[in-house]
Amino acid sequence: MELYSGPINKLIEELASLPGIGEKSASRLAFHLINLPTSRVQRLADTLMEAKEKVRYCSTCFTLTDGDVCPVCSNDKRDHSTVMVVENSRDLAAYEKTGKYMGVYHVLHGAISPMLGIGPSDIRLKELIERLKSDEISEVIIATNSSLEGETTAMYISKLIKPTGVKVTRIASGVPVGGDLECIDEVTLLRALEGRTEI
Ligand code: ZN
Repeated sequence: MELYSGPINKLIEELASLPGIGEKSASRLAFHLINLPTSRVQRLADTLMEAKEKVRYCSTCFTLTDGDVCPVCSNDKRDHSTVMVVENSRDLAAYEKTGKYMGVYHVLHGAISPMLGIGPSDIRLKELIERLKSDEISEVIIATNSSLEGETTAMYISKLIKPTGVKVTRIASGVPVGGDLECIDEVTLLRALEGRTEI
């Protein structure tokens, strides 16, 4: 027997398919949404659609942005010869929040994971190599997470870039093992950046 009506079940299912939302949270959210005034629900729906339609990848660093080139890449005051490689836009935001990193970024949108079947061609790695060929880049700072996937990705990138003569560094392990960059405080992030070593 179905506990709720079809549309509610469907809503719960949709919400439960989002990351970090379990069955319980999904049904709580679903009922919350149903009880909101129609205008609020419409606003939420419009906001979702607007974000989906307007947000795209920066043509240089591949972070999510609403223009062709993101604010960091289009900023002349940034050091465009230093590129920090991060796994996602949230990690970029974490470093941007420190306000101390003056270089630019490259967002991979994932990490290599043989276990999950995610290979080098499934992340924005080819684009990074292309960038190294065309731009004047003197250092690539690998700031992937210190998880198994993050380390595997760092090693892979390092091996790939080394022959080009570009300096490759890895942020220090002030970042706890298995830790997500976005959850780490700014002081730790900066310490990890300052303590980076050549690999
Ligand atoms: Zn960019």
